[in-house]
Amino acid sequence: MKSYRKELWLETPDRRDYVNITRQVEQCLGESGIREGLVLVNSMHITSSVFINDDESGLHHDFEVWLEKLAPEKPHSQYRHNGFEDNADAHMKRQLMGREVVVAVTNGKLDFGTWEQIFYGEYDGKRRKRVLVKIIGE
Ligand code: ZN
Repeated sequence: MKSYRKELWLETPDRRDYVNITRQVEQCLGESGIREGLVLVNSMHITSSVFINDDESGLHHDFEVWLEKLAPEKPHSQYRHNGFEDNADAHMKRQLMGREVVVAVTNGKLDFGTWEQIFYGEYDGKRRKRVLVKIIGE
């Protein structure tokens, strides 16, 4: 069995953002030479997510509105976590949107449904953060 590991670095200009990282993961798969197996992609931070959904800006706006209803950023004082930080809402948003995705690799390609794309979801950005790509197979 072969295995491959790479860290992708991201820095979003805003506190919250969504970045389509599908092409970067496909590039990793190409570098790995693996034709049949599994790809794991996870955020290495507890205030950001990796998830699969549609690359549609209206939907991404809807995610933002939905997450702000469930875990509003302000007032910062509503959260106990915000004693020394102001990112309690980011931890909660990450819980809602998830830590990682696993995608099947078939015949050297990511075996997606029609509209599936991999996104990095940032909830406490403006700094460099990492995403882990691990691929196993043969
Ligand atoms: Zn925190």
